[in-house]
Amino acid sequence: ASELRKASTVFNKFVYGRFENDIFAVCMPYKEENIDLLINALQINLKRVNKDYNTKISCGVYIIRDDSLDVPEMYDRASLAAKSCKGKFMQSVAYYDDSMIENMRHEQFIINEVNRAIDEEQFEVYLQPKINLATDRSYGAEALVRWNHPDRGMISPGEFIPVYERNGIIGRLDQYMWRQVCKLLRRWIDEGKNPNPISVNVSRVNIYNPQLVKIFKKLITEYQIPAELLNLELTESAFMEDQDLIMKTMSSLHKLGFKIMMDDFGSGYSSLNVLKDMEVDYLKIDMKFLQNKEFNGKGEKVLTSVIRMAKWLHLPSIVEGVETVEQVDFLKCIGCEYAQGYYYAKPLRIEEYEAFLIREEEMGAKCSANENTVIINELWNTRSSISKFFDLLETPIAIYEYRRGKSELLRTNIRYETDIVFDKEVDQQEHYRRSEAEKALLSETFARIVRGDFSEALEYELTEDVRYRVTVKMIGKRADTMIMMVTFYEISAYR
Ligand code: C2E
Ligand code: CA
Ligand code: CA
Repeated sequence: ASELRKASTVFNKFVYGRFENDIFAVCMPYKEENIDLLINALQINLKRVNKDYNTKISCGVYIIRDDSLDVPEMYDRASLAAKSCKGKFMQSVAYYDDSMIENMRHEQFIINEVNRAIDEEQFEVYLQPKINLATDRSYGAEALVRWNHPDRGMISPGEFIPVYERNGIIGRLDQYMWRQVCKLLRRWIDEGKNPNPISVNVSRVNIYNPQLVKIFKKLITEYQIPAELLNLELTESAFMEDQDLIMKTMSSLHKLGFKIMMDDFGSGYSSLNVLKDMEVDYLKIDMKFLQNKEFNGKGEKVLTSVIRMAKWLHLPSIVEGVETVEQVDFLKCIGCEYAQGYYYAKPLRIEEYEAFLIREEEMGAKCSANENTVIINELWNTRSSISKFFDLLETPIAIYEYRRGKSELLRTNIRYETDIVFDKEVDQQEHYRRSEAEKALLSETFARIVRGDFSEALEYELTEDVRYRVTVKMIGKRADTMIMMVTFYEISAYR
């Protein structure tokens, strides 16, 4: 107040007052420079008054063009504008425009309608299939809410979810959705169908709801549903907040048999580190990685590393927002397990989803899965039987990825580690030299295979007295990426 009082001596027409708490109102002749001047002066002086606080001013401006408006209404408009710069660090002034009132009314409408909408079952469950990339068949779905308003038609979640999140109402809507999904699973079980898991979204309010575990337990008991059929999607950013609490909650949910997915991985301030502490069962990777325009850009590389890392942690990945066949092929090549997106299906009404499953069943009889992809995916899964078999083989084997002249070692078996890599006699540098030499040699062979021949053999000298015959076979291919299997036979004795 005293700072404003000081300012009032600078501007010759200046009416001011305190509205409530830390909110003040000023009426003065409009000039943009004057507003900046006033804000800057206040900002500097407030800092001087209390050095311990970083006080930030939010200022809303309503330029009086229509003086038939009541003063309180003018004040409301300025106040509405001020709210739009709350929480924005860089912005301290906002000017009122009519869309702000429209937005506020719309938001108010969305809030006011929620109870009736829930009671009248206006919220509908849509299901978007998740596809197992090894088989190209769907494996369960994600439940997404749609609001079918009697007067306004379909309202998209983007319009109402953020509003409900801000107001905490989302807690109630979530629980409504979970119940609808449980009912649906119950119906499918009763109809003798053997449903795959459906995942539901659990918003932040509910993750920190102390009743959460009880609520889920009650639901599956009431509907007599195996917990494995209801997967829970928890958004990545929630994992950063109260890690101890979330770990406790997850552990209770795991004990009940629920599977947990970390949703929107990579959309926020994700830390790869949380993955090692948080016992999630699946990683859902945000569609943002696929959305960059030139698809061969950095997003692709980051995605590759994220999925490989997830594999080391035995975490299957689901990539969201898959829209094109190129993306599908790419994901198969890097060993991603599941995909979800418009390429396969949009979120479907329940009847549409049921029809989708029937169609898939009919198609499935006609065409079988891409066997190579199956093998590659199995190889990645260190617990799969094919992977164990791979490790039991008495021949050193390495799996390489070859793409545009570049090779990268993806996987090796135990025999390769002991015979080819492990050599006490040589130091780090020599190891590096050898592996680079091997790579260079193989790259040439890979290039030959790409040009047309299907299988190649060459001889390879590890050291002066150890010689290998190496065969290379292409076991998987997508556009410009090939998966090569390299087998080593020692032939030193036959020289
Ligand atoms: P989400 O959980 O990340 O859900 C995925 C969103 O991506 C969905 O948007 C889905 O329709 C959309 N999507 C799927 N495939 C593609 C694709 O190929 N391309 C593009 N561009 N988009 C695709 P939707 O249904 O509009 O939902 C938006 C968000 O609203 C959801 O993001 C989720 O955070 C929230 N939401 C939706 N339903 C619920 C719910 O029942 N409860 C809670 N708490 N949140 C929900
Ligand atoms: Ca989700
Ligand atoms: Ca998501």
